Amino acid sequence: MIIIVGAGLAGLSTAYHLSGVPYRLYEREQEVGGLCRSYQKDGFTFDYTGHLLHFRQPEIKALVEHLLAGQLQRHARKSFIYSHQTYTEYPFQVNTFGLPPEVVRECLLGFIETLTKPVTSSGPMQRSFKDWILDNLGEGMAKHFMVPFNEKLWKVSLDELTSDWVSWLVPKPELKDVVNGALGIKDKAFGYNPSFLYPASNGIKVLPESFLPGIRGVRNGMELMEVNTKRKRAVFRQRADGRVREEAYESLVSTIPIPELLKRCPDFPQQLKDAAEALRWVSVSNVNLAVAREQVSDKHWLYFPEPAYPFYRVGFPMNFSPALGRSGCSSMYVELSHRPTEQLSDEELITRSRQGLEQAGILKPDDELVVADVKNLHYAYVYFDQHRARAVPAIVAELERRGIYSIGRYGRWEHTSMEDAIGQGKRLAEQLRTWGAQAVPA
Ligand SMILES: Cc1cc2nc3c(=O)[nH]c(=O)nc-3n(C[C@H](O)[C@H](O)[C@H](O)COP(=O)(O)OP(=O)(O)OC[C@H]3O[C@@H](n4cnc5c(N)ncnc54)[C@H](O)[C@@H]3O)c2cc1C
Repeated sequence: MIIIVGAGLAGLSTAYHLSGVPYRLYEREQEVGGLCRSYQKDGFTFDYTGHLLHFRQPEIKALVEHLLAGQLQRHARKSFIYSHQTYTEYPFQVNTFGLPPEVVRECLLGFIETLTKPVTSSGPMQRSFKDWILDNLGEGMAKHFMVPFNEKLWKVSLDELTSDWVSWLVPKPELKDVVNGALGIKDKAFGYNPSFLYPASNGIKVLPESFLPGIRGVRNGMELMEVNTKRKRAVFRQRADGRVREEAYESLVSTIPIPELLKRCPDFPQQLKDAAEALRWVSVSNVNLAVAREQVSDKHWLYFPEPAYPFYRVGFPMNFSPALGRSGCSSMYVELSHRPTEQLSDEELITRSRQGLEQAGILKPDDELVVADVKNLHYAYVYFDQHRARAVPAIVAELERRGIYSIGRYGRWEHTSMEDAIGQGKRLAEQLRTWGAQAVPA
């Protein structure tokens, strides 16, 4: 028997691809989807901040297009950075046109300097994120976007983060593209998501729900409480009535955060449990707003690097899909990060978001808020730091030695996208099926 813990995209995809192999899928919440969920409030649909589909793996793209046949729409990305009271297109490094001339000059000169300066010889694990930015983009872009934006998001000095995750998220441009971007000449699309797919209606939750006809039941409202890794037994508690159920397993697939899993494994080596406790991450407050005015913005989402604004990003769901709200209105998701132990009250978050949106000219003082709702994403963005680089491979290897496969965004402790989570579930299921046919390795 294979036990899967967590019915987010990684767990659902594992179950979906295990066809024919006995499994049980347990989920703590009453609904599936994990981070990839949507909810309705007063005629508006919100995701747990914007979830947009972009693909690098053709097989996962084909799977999603099959599962959501006829339900997806493609959008050319309209994402911008708001700084110096100006909108410039994302990504910053190839779109400085429109900023004050002295800012553009600093960005250009700084970038040109990177082309002649010797690059730090250290590898991505040793090189800090800050040094990566300086080496690849230069002082000007560091000062005017990369450092203030990332320090606002990560809530930590960028010297403390490593650079082993940045290359596909933050591509290094060519000089020609940087110069064209400073002069406002456009000849190609940049970034990892120049266009994206999004469901025409009902929000991103249609994606996890599309797996359900292909899997045999999810045990919702069941929380993993304890795993005896030697005896291979997992204990779940029904959240509604506290009833406990014990399951014997051959393999256990965990998609819950590594620190949460190891807290529940009393017989796991203490040194690795301590290492899991020391993993760091940042949480996100997701403030969802709606106002009684049409098209407060014509963009999809905006980045805010300046400290004057409390949020790092704001998006407009009704510009992905008008069906996500009431006509004559606009909806917004506002993202503010915080250290996991330092959360503001909902009232404070809503007040600060509204003030920032007015200051940016997106809301007007007389705009009537028809929805103001806050969701906290406790685990949002994991830190890639020196500790993670040592701890995660050691923890994952020891788990696997005990027949536990930790996958997904927080199971691998990485910046997994929806596509990656689905891909990890698929690949693990295929492996487990092969091993099942041969007898599971020790
Ligand atoms: C702010 C933000 C924005 C994002 N935007 C995008 C985007 O635009 N595009 C994109 O591709 N990706 C985006 N992502 C990433 C995407 O959300 C994730 O990669 C994906 O949803 C992760 O799926 P998962 O199954 O690995 O984890 P999760 O979704 O976290 O699933 C884990 C599941 O385990 C359950 N669980 C936890 N503890 C227990 C327990 N003890 N017992 C039983 N069940 C338990 C949870 O309830 C949850 O359902 C974003 C992420 C964040 C934080």
